[in-house]
Amino acid sequence: MFLMEQAVTTISLSFDKKSPAFDTSPEEKNAPLVLIVEDDPAFSYLCASHLEAGGEEHYGSVQVESIEEALSAMQSQLFHCVLIDYRLPDGTGVDLVARICQEFPDWLGATILMTADGSEDIVADGLRAGANDYISKQNINAESLNRIIERAYEKVALRKELRRQNLELSNTNQLLQDRNAEITDFYHKVSHEIKTPLTAARMFMSMLDEGLAGPLTDEQAELVSQAIASCNELTKHFNDLIECTRLEAHKISLTYSEEELSRLITRSVASLSAIAEEKQVELKIQCDPVLPSIQVDAGRVVQVLANLIGNAIKFTEKGGRVAVNAQLSSEANDFIEICVSDTGIGIREEHLPKIYERLYQVNSTGDASTGAGLGLGLSITKEIVALHGGTIEVQSNYGTGTVFTVKLPISPIKDQIGEDSL
Ligand code: ADP
Repeated sequence: MFLMEQAVTTISLSFDKKSPAFDTSPEEKNAPLVLIVEDDPAFSYLCASHLEAGGEEHYGSVQVESIEEALSAMQSQLFHCVLIDYRLPDGTGVDLVARICQEFPDWLGATILMTADGSEDIVADGLRAGANDYISKQNINAESLNRIIERAYEKVALRKELRRQNLELSNTNQLLQDRNAEITDFYHKVSHEIKTPLTAARMFMSMLDEGLAGPLTDEQAELVSQAIASCNELTKHFNDLIECTRLEAHKISLTYSEEELSRLITRSVASLSAIAEEKQVELKIQCDPVLPSIQVDAGRVVQVLANLIGNAIKFTEKGGRVAVNAQLSSEANDFIEICVSDTGIGIREEHLPKIYERLYQVNSTGDASTGAGLGLGLSITKEIVALHGGTIEVQSNYGTGTVFTVKLPISPIKDQIGEDSL
């Protein structure tokens, strides 16, 4: 017994369980310490001797006989590796592996399970519980034991590196989220600040246009009307920006009312038919006359349709056609399907998955007659449709036209109704 105790080197290291002391320092690396958990003293001694004999490294060791002793040893000393017998007086080696993972989540040492017969089930359980490796007791000798510990170290080193990279990634991710929130907040504030003087400028311009400040020459009237169009365009951009930030912050809730869809479509095209006419694009509405009324946020649905119809007109050449159809969905009769189709320029297949992304434009040149966009319209549209519990799909043939299909539930889906709605 005296000899056995002599053979085992016990190195005492102080550490805090939650502190990075578990992450071995260079000095500690010089004296790697193995905890042997084995209730057969002779076998435990054998393992300690093999470790002493060493491979490239010389390991010190501490021997304990049970799960509880092992855990309490780990509380007071830093081990680089725990060598665990499967059968222990107060449980199995797999139980100990699981408890080490649970009670020492920051520990970056290796756990190696020793099995009597190398049973595959035990090995699988051990690895699943978090063991780094296993060895059959029959195969233990100085060389195999040292080799397996080295191999386990390599795995631990990889795990350490992975953990470091994960930490770095999550820090970067947090930083990006913070930056994103700052930017969103910034353009929300700026948009608001700019909208007020812009509204005033538009109002004064309208007064000039209406002759309230005296008659205008034809040339002056033309310039004023162009200035009003520019103000309207800017206002739309700022509204889109504000809308985006509100959607991102989940600050938009729907106010439902019972509506005739045909009425909403008529409202949506009200300001667009003049543009279509000017552009010589035929605008046709076809609504199934027996459509049931629908419960939606009327203003929001008008916004969705106006955006889709506006885009359809914008991307259709002179002489083309834009059609708006509404009918009961052929797939689910508690949904209404609205199709906005055009005979316009179409969208290449590779762009289709991206068109709902914020700020995405297939090409950034707009058409002055309907106003250049910011690439926000479809992303806002999609989010509003989703808030209603609906879907939006697009089909397009490059060069011949595009069809957007919006499906909206006739009655709102329960968990989508806000407290102040209906
Ligand atoms: P924008 O306001 O810039 O038009 P959107 O988000 O509404 O932004 O649309 C994104 C892009 O999708 C547009 O820039 C355009 O390239 C493409 N797009 C949308 N609708 C159509 C359409 N009906 N026909 C062709 N391209 C379209």
